[in-house]
Order: sequence, then structure tokens, then C-alpha cells
Amino acid sequence: MAIKIIVAGPRGRMGKEAVHMIYGVSDFELTACLDHKNDGKKLSDLEGFQDNFNAPVYSDIEKCFTEQQADVFVDLTTPEFGYKHTKAALNHGIRPVVGTTGYTNEQLEELKQLARDKKTGCIIAPNFAIGAVLMMKFAKMAAAYFPDVEIIEKHHDQKLDAPSGTAKKTAELIQEVRKRKKQGHPDEEETIQGVRGGDFDGMRIHSMRLPGLVAHQEVVFGGAGQTLTIQHDSMNRASFMDGIKECVYQVMDLDELIYGLENVL
Ligand code: NAP
Repeated sequence: MAIKIIVAGPRGRMGKEAVHMIYGVSDFELTACLDHKNDGKKLSDLEGFQDNFNAPVYSDIEKCFTEQQADVFVDLTTPEFGYKHTKAALNHGIRPVVGTTGYTNEQLEELKQLARDKKTGCIIAPNFAIGAVLMMKFAKMAAAYFPDVEIIEKHHDQKLDAPSGTAKKTAELIQEVRKRKKQGHPDEEETIQGVRGGDFDGMRIHSMRLPGLVAHQEVVFGGAGQTLTIQHDSMNRASFMDGIKECVYQVMDLDELIYGLENVL
């Protein structure tokens, strides 16, 4: 039997990609979409969707969850609405798979408790790119042998935060196993401020921002007579779809909230 899915935010860059992915997987069925505009239309009435994409569009979440039987709810909207949607889905016993980023720790704790109370699976993953998660895991493995490491993350120039969440998470994972040391020459001096990057527990993180980039990261380890580079590149939003697909399968067997794709794979 196909896994029945509702997607919130189908017109967005991630939502559109997710809808196309769902129609391409024979185990999945798109039951409905949640969009704060376009209530009562079909997905095929909206720009950029094929004629056979006939899932109904709802603006009222309660009506949507009551009229449509679904197993999984995929949210790709905004932090404010994603949080409300996730709560509503858990209250209806529909398992959320959430890519929307920007939840507070308090909101995450509340959702964790609600998932536990309702015994309903939920996955919230700020990075669905499987390659990025593997890059972090490989970097942690390597750091046990190579304590000298620098992280270079590169993103589009519209990104507001630096370093990226992925770079920070990578540094934290490395920190768990790396022999603590301050890297570089003890007497090194910056003649241009910030040129050596940000200091995280003695290792350096560099953030590059350029138009044309999407999301990229290199983790470079140095040892006697050798370097090791672990690199991941997200070229476009298709890079996140295998992660969403995996989470849809995995959430079916969960009865609690899991945060982070690294805890799912
Ligand atoms: P986007 O292109 O701005 O799409 C967001 C969509 O949500 C828009 O179509 C928006 O409609 C719609 N929306 C807003 N409020 C809504 C509501 N109440 N009900 C239903 N739909 C609503 O953004 P995006 O790039 O697709 O990203 C979406 C989210 O995913 C963001 O939080 C982003 O940070 C996150 N993200 C996660 C990953 C990951 O790997 N987990 C990767 C990339 C992005 P209007 O435009 O009409 O307001």
C-alpha cells in the first residue's frame, strides 16, 4: 500500500521539488497540499505542475487533515507556520517530516513531548542532503587521527548567518574526538583582520559568500606529508530529496521525534 503524504508549501522551491519527487516514487501517493493561497484548487491548476498532478489544495489545515487520510505530513514552509502545522499533524496522528528551519529549542522540546504523548513518529531535519550528513560523519572519523583541520564552507551571498549550521555541527562533531590543540604557528599574526578565519576550539572555520554558489563545504585535514579533503556540494534543491524520501520511509516506524538526518541514516 502506498504511503499517503500531504505537503505544505508546494509552490516554494523545496516544496515544488518534493511534490515532483513524490509523484516519481511508486510507493508514495500525494493525497493533498496545504497552501495559504489557492484553497479549493487542484495542484495542476497552479503554475509549474503537470496536468496529472491532481491533488486537492487546502488553506485550512484542520479541514485538510479531517477530509484527507494521510500517513505523513511534509512541511517546507516558514518557521512560524511549520511549527503550527507540525503540532496540528501530531494532534491528528499524522507523522511529520519537517525540513523547515529556524525552530527555537523550546519549540523543539514542546514538539518532542507532543510526539511522545501521541506516540507518533516525527523527523525534523535542518539538512536533508545525505552527502552532507556523510561528510560530517567521515570528518568525525578522520579527526581521531588528524587533529589539524580547517573547515571551508561556501554559500550563496543571500545567506544571513555565518558560519553555516552544517559547518558548526561539523566542528562540534570533530571536537568530540579531536585531540585538543591550537593550530598554526604559535607566533602567527594576522596583517588583515579575520584572514585566518573563525577560531573554534583551536581549529579554523572559513565562510565564503558568492553569487552562483548554493551550499558547499570542504573539511581539510593536515598530517605529516599528507592532507585529506572531504568535500560536499549541493548544486540545487534536488540534493535534498533523497533525504526527504528516506525520512518518509523511516518515520512510518517511529513513535517519537528524531532531530537531524544524521540520527536517521
Ligand atoms: P520558499 O521558496 O520561500 O518556499 C516557502 C513556501 O511556503 C512558499 O511557497 C510560501 O508561500 C509557502 N508558505 C508560507 N506560509 C505558508 C502557510 N501558512 N501554508 C502553506 N504554505 C505556506 O522557501 P524554500 O527555499 O522552499 O524553503 C522552505 C523551508 O525549507 C525554509 O524554512 C528553508 O530554510 C528550509 N530548507 C530546508 C532544507 C533542508 O535540507 N532541511 C533545505 C533548503 C531549505 P508564499 O510565497 O505565497 O508565502
